[in-house]
Amino acid sequence: MDYSLTELQQLIVDSYRDYMESENWESYFAACDEAHEYPLRWVKGLCDLGFDQIMLPESHGGLGIDQPCLTLMAIYEVLGRFGAPTYVLYQLAGFATIIREGTQEQIDKVMASLGTGEQIWNSACTEPGAGSDVAGLQTTYQRRDGKIYLNGTKTFITSAKGVKYLVVMARNADEPDVFTEFFVDMGLPGVSLSPLTKLGLRMDSCCEVYLTNVELEEKDIFGTEGNGFNRGVSDFNFERWLVGACDYGIAICAFEDAMTYANTRVAFGRPLSRFQLNQMKISDMCIRLSNMKNMLYEAAWNADRSGGEFNAAAAAMCKYYCVNAAFAVVDDAMQIMGGISVASEHRINRIWRDLRVDRISGGTDEMMVLATSKGASLAYRA
Ligand SMILES: Cc1cc2nc3c(=O)[nH]c(=O)nc-3n(C[C@H](O)[C@H](O)[C@H](O)COP(=O)(O)OP(=O)(O)OC[C@H]3O[C@@H](n4cnc5c(N)ncnc54)[C@H](O)[C@@H]3O)c2cc1C
Repeated sequence: MDYSLTELQQLIVDSYRDYMESENWESYFAACDEAHEYPLRWVKGLCDLGFDQIMLPESHGGLGIDQPCLTLMAIYEVLGRFGAPTYVLYQLAGFATIIREGTQEQIDKVMASLGTGEQIWNSACTEPGAGSDVAGLQTTYQRRDGKIYLNGTKTFITSAKGVKYLVVMARNADEPDVFTEFFVDMGLPGVSLSPLTKLGLRMDSCCEVYLTNVELEEKDIFGTEGNGFNRGVSDFNFERWLVGACDYGIAICAFEDAMTYANTRVAFGRPLSRFQLNQMKISDMCIRLSNMKNMLYEAAWNADRSGGEFNAAAAAMCKYYCVNAAFAVVDDAMQIMGGISVASEHRINRIWRDLRVDRISGGTDEMMVLATSKGASLAYRA
C-alpha cells in the first residue's frame, strides 16, 4: 500500500493549508459554536477551492482526481489539524449520491447550490421510536387521488434548519414492508421543525421534523420505490469513514495544543512534558494517532480501488475505532492542559464536546461493533 500523494494531490492539499493559514479562523469558529450557527463563510471558501467537487463525476463538474477518497482524507487531515469543524462538511462530499439516485429534476435542484457552501440536503431516518433499529420506523406514505401523503415524526435530524431538501424514509401504509425514500422540499405545507439543543457539533442544527399530510407526487420518490432501506444504508459506509476522518483530524489539533502546553508550562521547576505520567499520555496519544492514520488511509486507498465504495465492515471499524481513539486523545490532551481546558475558552473544550457526540450520531459504538464483526473477514485483510 502506498498512501503518498501525487504532485497534484499535494498541491490541492497545500491550497487548503494556505486557506486555513490565511486568517485566524478559530475566533470565527468559536463565535459560530457559541451562536449555534453554520460557518457559511468558511465553507464557501472551501467550495471556492473545489471541495464539493472532489467526489463528483467529471460529467457533473467533478475535478477528475484519480484517488478522490485518499485526497479527501488528506484534506480532512489538514483542516482538522487547524481545529476546523469538518463535521459540517459531510453533506458536501455527498453530491455523488444525488447524481446516482436522483431524477434530473432533483439533481438540478441540488446542483444549483454547488459552489455556494450552503446546506442543501440531508437524509432523515431516525424517529422517536426508531434509532438503531431503523426498520422500526413508523412514518408512512399513502397514495390518494393521484397524490402521495407523508405522515410521521423524524428526530435528531442534522442540518434540518438549514437545508432546502430532506430525503425522508417512510414505509408504505398499505404494505408495511415496503420502504421508500422521498425528496421533500422543506418549504412544503405540512413540514415543520422543532430545534433541539445538543452537547456538541453546535455549528450544525439538529431538529425534530414533523410531517403532517405532506402532499407529494410520484416524481418526488428518491431512487426506486421499495429500495429505500438499501439505498439509505448504502450511504452509511461513506459517512462512517468520514466521521472517523473528521475525528482523527481534530485529534491532531488537540494533541498539538497539548504538546505546546506541556513543553511551555512549568510545574515543580520542570515543563509538564518531563513528568513520566504525562509522557505516558503523550505516548498513548501518538500510538492512537498513528493507528487512526493507517486505518483511515488504508480504507480510503481500498475504496479508491473499488470505484469509491467503502466496505461496510471496514467503514464501521473506522468509525468505532477512530471516534473512540480520537476522543481518548482529546481527553488526555485536556488532562495535560489542566484547568484551562475546562474553565477557559480554549478550543479543546469545544473539541471534546464535539467528539463525544460522534459515539452516538451516525450509528452508535455498539452498532459499529456489530457491523464490524458481521464482516470481520473484510474488516481486516492480512
Ligand atoms: C447529533 C445527532 C445527529 C443525528 N443526525 C441524524 C440525521 O441527520 N439523520 C438521521 O436519520 N438520524 C440522525 N441521528 C440519529 C442517530 O443515528 C441515532 O441517534 C442513533 O442511530 C441511535 O439511535 P437512538 O438515539 O434512538 O438510540 P437507541 O437505538 O435507542 O439505542 C440506545 C442505546 O442502546 C444501544 N443499542 C440499541 N440496540 C442495540 C443492540 N441490538 N445491541 C447492543 N446495543 C444496542 C445503542 O447502541 C445505544 O447505546 C443523529 C443523532 C444525533 C445524536
